Amino acid sequence: MAKKPLLEFTDKGIYCAKGKFYIDPWKPVDDAVITHAHADHAYPGNKHYLAQHFSREVLLYRLGDIQLQTVAYGEKVIKNGVEISLHPAGHVIGSAQIRVEHLGEVWVVSGDYKVEDDGVSTPFEPVRCHHFISECTFGMPVYKWKPQAQVFDDINNWWCNNLQNGVATVLVGYSLGKAQRILQNLDLSLGKVYTHGVIENTNEALRRNGILLNPTERITPDTNKEDARKGIIIAPPSSVGTTWMRKFMPYSFGYCSGWMAIRGAKRRRAADRGFVLSDHADWDGLINAISATDCESVYLTHGYTATFARYLNEGGYDAHEVHTLYGDDEEVDGAAAGVSLADDTPPQPSPEERELEEPSQVLFFKEGLGEASVNTEGEDMS
Ligand SMILES: [Zn+2]
Ligand SMILES: [Zn+2]
Repeated sequence: MAKKPLLEFTDKGIYCAKGKFYIDPWKPVDDAVITHAHADHAYPGNKHYLAQHFSREVLLYRLGDIQLQTVAYGEKVIKNGVEISLHPAGHVIGSAQIRVEHLGEVWVVSGDYKVEDDGVSTPFEPVRCHHFISECTFGMPVYKWKPQAQVFDDINNWWCNNLQNGVATVLVGYSLGKAQRILQNLDLSLGKVYTHGVIENTNEALRRNGILLNPTERITPDTNKEDARKGIIIAPPSSVGTTWMRKFMPYSFGYCSGWMAIRGAKRRRAADRGFVLSDHADWDGLINAISATDCESVYLTHGYTATFARYLNEGGYDAHEVHTLYGDDEEVDGAAAGVSLADDTPPQPSPEERELEEPSQVLFFKEGLGEASVNTEGEDMS
């Protein structure tokens, strides 16, 4: 009889029968190990949670009064004879890959990850294993990120121009991850940073956790519009097109997302500028990360799983697509769930829009490797 694998895929999530725990389960379980605090990985309703120290306050803020144990990167926890440790994933503050070992068999669950050091999250560290469970949100060759220093040069120049033109600068990025990455990499000699309440709540949770972030000012009904125009406003995706944003007219509105690499993505969000900035690995990043694990088999949980599995299989890996409920945190802001946006109803993309944006449904991107159209809108996308 074949030996049962140490980790298996169930309808509740990734399960370790030997250790009796789940990793990022999407249905309530007794014992959950969490890679990071985004809503598609950290669901409410579990009896016990294990996560990295820097996720602590954000998890408590998002999930309420949960039973939570936190550990440092590399610290070992034994559950029913199975050894668990968390290792930096470089995705957002506190994000971890989960390493699971029993009788010499090693599995690593990546959660979401990126390989570039963003200056905010603990940088990604490859972990050697036999079996690697990986995301591949941007698993197409067309996705190739520029170094973040170049992207922030573009952002700072755009902000500078807006200041000269007397228009407000509104920069959109999701609240856990992108918002702090923006905050820590802006040129603050240009002006002050103002934040939407959803983002400031997350910043406050991180500060309670001991994370040092640059100073910000929460936008309230009393915030002076002229003052805000002299600074920069960081806002979540859910605020786009709302009366909250219109208060700052006239403004120039920029959007930070990996999807901005796709032709037309900027236009669909009505943004003046699209900045290609992602908290996920690009094509080369995924391939390098997988290669560095020295693994035999790869299981792909979300993103362009079919394309990427085919590529890996051709390269000699034993690669599989697996069905999970992990989604697209580049666009959907987990923090918005359960948090009041006051008088603002977040606009939802139409079904047609979702179809164009979601990797699993982007038809023309599935046709073949390298055939996807890259953005050609030139200076707009810089
Ligand atoms: Zn995530
Ligand atoms: Zn995710």
